[in-house]
Amino acid sequence: MRLLYCATAIGEMNTSGNYVGGCLCGAVRFTVAAKPFWSACCHCESCRRATASPVAAFVGFDEDSVQFRGDARRLFSSSSGVERSFCVNCGTPLSYRSTQWPGEIHLYAPTFDNPAAYPPTFHVHWAEKLTWFGVMDSLPKHDHANAPADTSQ
Ligand SMILES: [Zn+2]
Ligand SMILES: [Zn+2]
Repeated sequence: MRLLYCATAIGEMNTSGNYVGGCLCGAVRFTVAAKPFWSACCHCESCRRATASPVAAFVGFDEDSVQFRGDARRLFSSSSGVERSFCVNCGTPLSYRSTQWPGEIHLYAPTFDNPAAYPPTFHVHWAEKLTWFGVMDSLPKHDHANAPADTSQ
């Protein structure tokens, strides 16, 4: 099932650069041919370790709309049914897929050339948030992975 979590315009194609991105060293580049389904911050321990950051800012897309270029991308199964990818040259995390969300691929907002075009619209795994990490926004905050059930918001 494809989940449409929000009607907020994210990743508007204002310039030709909005839908391209890549890793720190440039060995892996990606292009996305469709608008994202959603954009959110994940506070879970796995994402924190995978990104070495207090929070991971994800953008969810139809997996068929994303194309990677370059041969430095490696896949890693971080838990059952979960596939993450990263650049083997510079270590940048690049994607997340899970059997929990078939047909979706989750990219990281900061790896886009124009990350400002992908503001988060909610938080997930809020229950695992680091105590010293402050979040000042008024976005919806979900204790676990569940996104808002109400797709009309
Ligand atoms: Zn790289
Ligand atoms: Zn997570």
